[in-house]
Amino acid sequence: MDFPSLTIERVRKGLLGREFSARELTAEALRFVEVENPKTNAYLRLAPERALAAAAHVDEQIARGEEIGPLAGVPVAVKDVILTKGVITTCGSKLLERYVPPYDATAVVRLERAGAVVLGKTNCDEFAMGSSNENSAFGPVRNPAAPDRVPGGSSGGSAAAVAQGTAVVALGSDTGGSIRQPASFCGVVGVTPTYGRVSRYGLTAFASSLDHVGPLGRTVRDTARVLGVIAGRDPADSTSADAPVPDYTTELDGQVKGLKLGLPREYLKDLTSESGDLIARGVEVLKKLGCQVREISLPSTDSAVACYYVLATAEASSNLARYDGVRYTFRSASSDTLSDMYRNTRGEGFGAECKRRIMLGTYVLSAGYYDAYYLKAQKVRALIARDFAKSFQQVDAIVAPVSPYPAFKLGEKVNDPLAMYLSDIYTITGDLAGIPCMSVPCGKTAGGLPVGMQILTRHFDETTMFRLADAFENSEAA
Ligand code: GLN
Repeated sequence: MDFPSLTIERVRKGLLGREFSARELTAEALRFVEVENPKTNAYLRLAPERALAAAAHVDEQIARGEEIGPLAGVPVAVKDVILTKGVITTCGSKLLERYVPPYDATAVVRLERAGAVVLGKTNCDEFAMGSSNENSAFGPVRNPAAPDRVPGGSSGGSAAAVAQGTAVVALGSDTGGSIRQPASFCGVVGVTPTYGRVSRYGLTAFASSLDHVGPLGRTVRDTARVLGVIAGRDPADSTSADAPVPDYTTELDGQVKGLKLGLPREYLKDLTSESGDLIARGVEVLKKLGCQVREISLPSTDSAVACYYVLATAEASSNLARYDGVRYTFRSASSDTLSDMYRNTRGEGFGAECKRRIMLGTYVLSAGYYDAYYLKAQKVRALIARDFAKSFQQVDAIVAPVSPYPAFKLGEKVNDPLAMYLSDIYTITGDLAGIPCMSVPCGKTAGGLPVGMQILTRHFDETTMFRLADAFENSEAA
């Protein structure tokens, strides 16, 4: 089996044509992970029993002549901030090193109901805070395209697994770019749906008003298929939207002629020349496909990083308060009093980035500073959303870079948090506005580093986003 080229469609054909059984495929996939994973550290843990049981179920359905689900037998990886019942879920943190969730996230339930086979859990920055996967308590992930470079973050393990072929598709989470940026760095497709499109039930909370669950895959079609399965109202998440979920794959008809695209002026000025050239080439391809491209302006872009790092840290400081050594697994062994126990547990358990954010978030929420920082940032967020809303009166989709540069070297930015934060400049705006956005591969630098192009559309219009990305992907391949 050639795992790196496997698609959902190929798995389906193989199963229905009795080329292989789901159990054979799963056993082979697990073996492939064992061999390949040491090169990247993408997976933190495999779940062979669970995977083989899911595969056996698919085989039984086929044997009985029953209809199989849309993801039947497909090997999937799940980011380790998404809960899996009975399978340790660490969030990349020492604090949760032995945490066994008592329930599954809704997205995982829906994947398995559709026949998917969850192979295991993927590495990530601690509590999804980071842009390089170097904030994991369990070691960094290496980029499959260049082992001395980061895979991006925080869903670095999921992106690396898909790029490496150790999963056909994966789930990631995105609060400020954590699906699109690693997808761009590793050369795969990554999708951040509209806020509320996919239930957050069972996604460990980082910044609740910004958190999304979304798919990564090697083709646009595969990510569209997965989103179709995991999207939709969930009574367990009151912020999940009660909007109809279209069959995204039937909309991938290549019809993009006449589509109006906006190119935000503010996003193109600080790109490295190679990334800029690749994006410009991508835009030319879209023009050849019949799209009309015009320049647009998103004037609040300059305030986006500051706005995000106030709001995200404020929400994080509140969400992370629950890790106190009482209700969850890790507890400092060396405490005499209750307050010492809290202090030592959190002091020993959290990594430096989480501590930095808890302190910053607590500060911006404190009585004397709430108006100056938190409230101000909320107003800026409204301006950013308004920029997009205005642009979408003129254009159907926005095309932009994902990151100012391709994958950087391991260790290069790890001691400079501000430089790390600034690398999120083009991705956090989409999260702040809550609109759908994705990264689709748009070529490689001379040194072989993948670069992604970002597509953003109106709230709940994932269809246009997928259609455009799919047409682009097919034209690139041609
Ligand atoms: N890099 C951003 C951060 O560190 C985004 C993280 C995310 O999307 N989860 O907050």
